[in-house]
Amino acid sequence: MVELGIGQYVEMEYGGAARIIQIIGSGGQGIVYLAEFNDARYALKWYDVDKISNPKAFRKNIENNIKDGAPSNKFLWPKYLTKELDNGCFGYLMDLRPQGYDSFVDILNTYKLEIEQMSGRATKQSVQFKSLFAMVTAVINIVNTFRQLHRAGKSYQDLNDGGFFINVENGDILVCDCDNIAPDGCNFGIAGKPGYMAPEVVRGISKPNVQTDKYSLAVVLFKLLFRGDPVEGEKVVKDICLTETSELKHYGQQAIFVYDPKNDSNRPVRGIHDNVIKFWKIYPDYIKDAFTFTFTTGITEPNKRIIENEWQKLFIRLRSEIIKCHCGRTNFASMFLLTEEGHYKCPKCGAEYSELQLSNRDYGIPLYIGCKFYACDTEKASDDFQTVTGELIENKLKPGVLGIKNMSDKIWKVKMPDGNFYNVASGKGFPLWKDVEIDFGGITAKLK
Ligand SMILES: [Zn+2]
Repeated sequence: MVELGIGQYVEMEYGGAARIIQIIGSGGQGIVYLAEFNDARYALKWYDVDKISNPKAFRKNIENNIKDGAPSNKFLWPKYLTKELDNGCFGYLMDLRPQGYDSFVDILNTYKLEIEQMSGRATKQSVQFKSLFAMVTAVINIVNTFRQLHRAGKSYQDLNDGGFFINVENGDILVCDCDNIAPDGCNFGIAGKPGYMAPEVVRGISKPNVQTDKYSLAVVLFKLLFRGDPVEGEKVVKDICLTETSELKHYGQQAIFVYDPKNDSNRPVRGIHDNVIKFWKIYPDYIKDAFTFTFTTGITEPNKRIIENEWQKLFIRLRSEIIKCHCGRTNFASMFLLTEEGHYKCPKCGAEYSELQLSNRDYGIPLYIGCKFYACDTEKASDDFQTVTGELIENKLKPGVLGIKNMSDKIWKVKMPDGNFYNVASGKGFPLWKDVEIDFGGITAKLK
């Protein structure tokens, strides 16, 4: 391939030229440079066309994606194509990754290497989610982002740990490497990364599509939550030599989920898969059931894999079940004790938490100081998991008296101890008492 030199100008398809500033990174299909175009800085992906099976069709697909635009602002989407050089090489410009986002690879490793400019010395820096809440928010964002892509009729095709950047403070995500995205059913030669490919792609009986994306998505989610591989257990470990044939066997023809309830031949091995063993005990059953289904029935029946909308609902529930106890313990409700009255009890300090039962949910939302409600909880037919519409607060003048503050733009109706309903306007709050009833406007709620 023809590499670009620092300071070199690359002509753009519709006029102007981008100036190469430095190399940012390189991958299987080419090199990514930092480039300047029209006084702004971009990443320029420059292809090694020898590694692309049909460069003309590949380029045309990128051109179409640029025309269509990104499904949302969560994608580092191609923006401008360069002209094609005489040797067939070309590239495209995309936005740079903003500050504060770490690669998914670094998150799985729990550290990154920072190179000191002066000495060239590499130092390890921890990369970990700042809270359980941020981690589950990242999961919801990943699921929602692929839902948007699939709704646009496109598949990602090469979903793997290199495809995301995540903000570990707040769980925001960005999808990168968008150049293999194509209309569902089209494929330009990419198969995917080992460990993330759907079994039917590993076996060569299917090309990547929306259904295989769903498998890869489940692998990404599993790795993020359980910090291990969903089909690497005892059976794979015993097979010491991981040749191409054994990869075909363990990830293709005979892929067995490590917690397959009907087949225990591939359970996680203590000392090797300790994370999976540990985290499998922490998550509630509805999360484990969804993974179990996708990695058992969904291995052979691609159209039965959990769809993004379903994952999104499950993870919104999981996020609402994170309890932040005042003693400092933060964990899922499933890791708290249950009292006879059905309250959650902190195993560390004994504090008890009741739940709010919403009419649009078949589960209760634990109530603790600082817990938030979102539009998807309080507004009818909403799946907006980001807009905060309410928060549980403690009365500043009367410590111990709890209330919910209306942070939505709607008027709520709330039953007070005198038995009458009163309006609670935006910005106002109301006290929680045992027989409180709330009408959010179509959705009602009671204490449980
Ligand atoms: Zn506690």
